[in-house]
Amino acid sequence: MELNLDINGLVKEIVTTKAKKIILQVPEGLKIQAQEIISSLDKFGMRAYLSIEPVYGACDLATNFSDTIKADLIVHIGHTEFLRSKNKVIYWPCYYEATKEEITKIAKNIDSELANKRATFVGPIQYKKVIDLLEKEVKNIIVVKTKTSGLLQAGQILGCDTSILGPIQKEIDAIVYIGDGNFHISAITQNIQIYKLEGLDVVKYEQKDNLKKKIMNEYIFKEAQNVGIIVTSKTGQNNYKVAESIYDGLKKQGKKPYLLIADFISYDKIIGLKLDCLINTACPRITDDKENYKIPIINYKDVLKLIQ
Ligand code: SF4
Repeated sequence: MELNLDINGLVKEIVTTKAKKIILQVPEGLKIQAQEIISSLDKFGMRAYLSIEPVYGACDLATNFSDTIKADLIVHIGHTEFLRSKNKVIYWPCYYEATKEEITKIAKNIDSELANKRATFVGPIQYKKVIDLLEKEVKNIIVVKTKTSGLLQAGQILGCDTSILGPIQKEIDAIVYIGDGNFHISAITQNIQIYKLEGLDVVKYEQKDNLKKKIMNEYIFKEAQNVGIIVTSKTGQNNYKVAESIYDGLKKQGKKPYLLIADFISYDKIIGLKLDCLINTACPRITDDKENYKIPIINYKDVLKLIQ
């Protein structure tokens, strides 16, 4: 499978906006293509700044950079729209394209592994075209399609939003995750058997033991005295109002809370602070890397009930 960026199509779309100054955001791995895009835009007299900050999702829209340099367009590559913005934005998702042979092989594997099951296909937006083809190609399973939900397209999940699964969860025996890595799949909390792609094979995916995690988080939270509440300035991940209400709730419980703000969240930024645990109000997937934090870090949704 290959990721198709369609640079010519993108440049054409940008040129039609007649923007003079552009902020270009590109996920890691596609930066080399960014240089090609910038050179093409230069021929049309368009000045483009490449954001060299990491881009983890469409929530990570470079509005601050855009405002700072007074850009008239943000071009965000790799994701679909996540939040409404006052800035003018072109979202340019790129899609994996699979050959006919690859689709046939994967569909056959799904048919034999999930025979007669009612299943739905989900994945990150980059796999949307592959999902559409597989839904048509499988023969031995009953495909239950998801519908669009908010800004999510049918079949699309994010690492922080799997809401498209809600309305169909009682109708399915299995979820087939079409994607790579664990970032998106680990957001699925429905108690339904998940299958995932491994190369062209389809294998069972074991979900984390959420109950064990919940009990552990409750214990850590109850014992903690000095609590850091992490807030990010990233437009689509900013939850400062939630952070402030948690802050008030913690004070009422006699704990010592501290509001901490940064753009990119990482452990080295809290070194030197005396904290027993962190409550994360930014991207929920940050806590998947909790080994990097050296002190316990808990997503805010997991502690809300313990504060009210
Ligand atoms: S908040 Fe996290 S999971 Fe959600 S879109 Fe942003 S990077 Fe992805």
